Amino acid sequence: MPIFSHPDYKGHEGVFFHHEPRSGLRCIIAVHSTARGPATGGCRMWAYDSDDLALKDVLRLSRGMSYKNAVSDLALGGGKAVIIGDPHSDKSPELFRAFGRFVNTLGGIYITAEDVGIDTADMELVAEETRFVAGLEKTGITPSGDPSPFTAFGVHLGVRRMAEIRLQRESLQGVAVAVQGLGHVGFRLAEMLARDGAQLTVTDMEEDACAKAKDRFGATVVGLEEIYDQEAEVFAPCALGGTINEKTVPRLKAKVIAGAANNQLSTPEIGRLLQERSIAYAPDYVINCGGIINVEGEIYGCYSPEASREKIRQTIHRLGEIVLQSEAQGVPSNIIADRYAEQMLHTRPHAPEIAPGAPADRRIRTAVGAD
Ligand code: NAD
Repeated sequence: MPIFSHPDYKGHEGVFFHHEPRSGLRCIIAVHSTARGPATGGCRMWAYDSDDLALKDVLRLSRGMSYKNAVSDLALGGGKAVIIGDPHSDKSPELFRAFGRFVNTLGGIYITAEDVGIDTADMELVAEETRFVAGLEKTGITPSGDPSPFTAFGVHLGVRRMAEIRLQRESLQGVAVAVQGLGHVGFRLAEMLARDGAQLTVTDMEEDACAKAKDRFGATVVGLEEIYDQEAEVFAPCALGGTINEKTVPRLKAKVIAGAANNQLSTPEIGRLLQERSIAYAPDYVINCGGIINVEGEIYGCYSPEASREKIRQTIHRLGEIVLQSEAQGVPSNIIADRYAEQMLHTRPHAPEIAPGAPADRRIRTAVGAD
């Protein structure tokens, strides 16, 4: 498995592999950049078909976090962790404690949180072994809880803004939206869109989630593959990455793609394909900024939900600017977003003051997380 010559190894500062036989933990942590602050990004648990796929995922996701944090002007760098395993059957308290001990060995250059397959209870177990964790409900100086509602809040604002720009719709009343994935973010988003009066078509591999969406807000449920063929004006990818690709783009009828998933485009070139088909694409790491924005306050020990919502609004405003600039210049929106992020990566963030003992505080060692 190549590392330095890996096509997704793009200036990463470090990639760390760990196997702990007692708990069965196998994980990879990728630190893409610490230029703007501690490398921060969630931990994903997934039953990857191969180690190669896990490595590819963590390399791409960690770089995406650098860009995401830079676009939102956060005092955070980019990193990510993946745990190789099935979140339905392979979780145990010992596994998460072992992961916490490994995070701790990195001394705070990487701060972890929730991502796909992981919830706040798992992160509380991680927090038994390290301070370098956020998205907590009970532990820490200013815990901020589950980031997903804030991600959904931002994506919802983003869908509205994209509908204004591309569909010339002031409201989502009657707008057909196809939601792919009804997990922590997708379900909440669907709920908010339903409240706006959107006509929802949904899919998920979890039948219970689909049944709940049908019962609660009358969503039409379709199969995993059928979601691409719907007569929807908006396609909201809220499952895993890579679902916008050469095979799916020709099937989409939507004029807007706006959803929570990370790495939605299988390759950056897909952005050009979308533009040629007049599909307005909300760059994933801009529209799904809410969760990480909400976590920043906790990392610095100064969390406030109001401040998070205000910062999310600012980033969604920036999303609108990026999409308008893309249309005006005829340059794909993912490229405009990347240029903006790359520029921001080299600017100094306005870092909040670090509260003693907060996850960003690397100056002291406390009993928890002592190594
Ligand atoms: P989650 O694990 O709670 O939900 C993912 C859902 O997608 C699950 O219900 C799963 O069954 C479903 N799914 C998986 N493959 C699918 C497929 N092929 N078709 C349809 N459904 C499928 O994860 P989440 O926290 O809701 O995150 C969703 C996406 O948003 C991920 O890509 C994640 O990286 C991204 N994201 C999440 C947050 C957050 O705050 N949770 C923040 C930023 C980005």
